[in-house]
Amino acid sequence: MADLSRLGVVVVGGGIGGLTAAALLARRGYDVVVFEQAIALGGCASTFKRRGFTFDVGATQVAGLEPGGIHHRIFEDLSVELPMAVPCDPACAVFLPGEAEPIFVWRDPVHWTAVRQRQFPGSEPFWQLLQRLFLASWRFQGREPVLPPRNLWDLMQLLGAVRPDTLVTAPFALMRVGDALKLYGLYGDRRFKTFLDLQLKLYSQVDADKTALLYAATALCLAQNPQGLYHLQGSMQVLSDRLVEALVQHRGQLRLRHRVERIHTQNGRAIAVTVRDNTGKTWRHAADIVVANVTAQNLLKLVADETNQLPTQLKRFKQRIDKLPVASGRLWFIWASRQQRFLKVARRTCNFSTITRAPLERITRYLFQSANRGMAALPTEKQRLPLLRSLILVNGGRAARPTIVP
Ligand SMILES: Cc1cc2nc3c(=O)[nH]c(=O)nc-3n(C[C@H](O)[C@H](O)[C@H](O)COP(=O)(O)OP(=O)(O)OC[C@H]3O[C@@H](n4cnc5c(N)ncnc54)[C@H](O)[C@@H]3O)c2cc1C
Repeated sequence: MADLSRLGVVVVGGGIGGLTAAALLARRGYDVVVFEQAIALGGCASTFKRRGFTFDVGATQVAGLEPGGIHHRIFEDLSVELPMAVPCDPACAVFLPGEAEPIFVWRDPVHWTAVRQRQFPGSEPFWQLLQRLFLASWRFQGREPVLPPRNLWDLMQLLGAVRPDTLVTAPFALMRVGDALKLYGLYGDRRFKTFLDLQLKLYSQVDADKTALLYAATALCLAQNPQGLYHLQGSMQVLSDRLVEALVQHRGQLRLRHRVERIHTQNGRAIAVTVRDNTGKTWRHAADIVVANVTAQNLLKLVADETNQLPTQLKRFKQRIDKLPVASGRLWFIWASRQQRFLKVARRTCNFSTITRAPLERITRYLFQSANRGMAALPTEKQRLPLLRSLILVNGGRAARPTIVP
């Protein structure tokens, strides 16, 4: 391995993405420091504690823990033990408006096929298409293509990942789920479309008309064996903990409550960052490489210099970002209850769409997503008193500070 010990890397953000990049780079000999503005690691996959219980603030289910899966491969690369996990079975319970019983999305493919054939007669060709697209793109992603390619190396990596079966996906690359439904004459089936919309809003924040078909194929087919979704034992925080373990083991450094305020560039290359710590002290930290694991919009703010001039290669990127619609808001409820009857009351009082259940010690935790875009109607005070334990407002895909509802 080449001597990389003098190359300094700054990673902005201690979410799962930043920590993964940091741990992998530290393992390869880079001199890595992670700056995280929050008091806890994990970002959207972080946790908080209330009355002795640990709650996930955002992500609850993990994919890619099976052999060959992305987390499995990363932990193997880092020589870190894979976290203990419980398969999600069912992965999801979808309550359709006006129906008493939910539709469970089971892990066993045979069981799940039987359920969907019974629930949605005539939809099987659509599911078969999804399955074909999912398997081809899953294998393609597993060969680590770089998308979009920016240089010759990226292009070689991309071409090296393409196989004849990848071409199956090509005619569908620009299609949305709604287009495929029309193709199979299913678009008019409101019940089926609602079933898909509710799940897609959970996975892609938009409905079938706006979700790319290839993405949906992965999102809707990932829950079954031999892939599947998992709940980590001990909460999502375990994922960050394991990555930190690897980072520290390879002499990487971690700075919590340190906000990067500026990424300085010279001739289009990052050369340093300005950091502010929790006491308000700021300084310039030199870097050979900066990995900014922040949103695209925030990256542009961090890189713009005092005269608001962006490095050349970011200008085109900015034009694309400027065209994006304004981020939407979403309301999530996280409840904890020991009582099964709670579920019935909750369904009557709140307009929610999908539920994921994570077993916690002695209780079951329910995560509800509002069925509507933006703010959902809250239950009345009397209704919500016995129900609400904590409430998280997720704004633009980002978890805000949890608000306790009395
Ligand atoms: C409500 C919700 C539910 C979800 N459910 C699932 C799920 O079940 N399964 C799943 O796989 N995914 C789920 N996701 C998506 C998943 O959580 C995210 O894709 C993933 O956690 C993003 O990780 P990240 O590291 O890229 O970004 P983030 O988690 O956003 O991390 C970015 C970090 O950077 C820090 N930061 C930002 N700017 C600065 C700065 N200037 N200086 C220092 N630090 C900075 C932030 O504080 C944050 O900690 C969910 C997301 C949400 C919001």
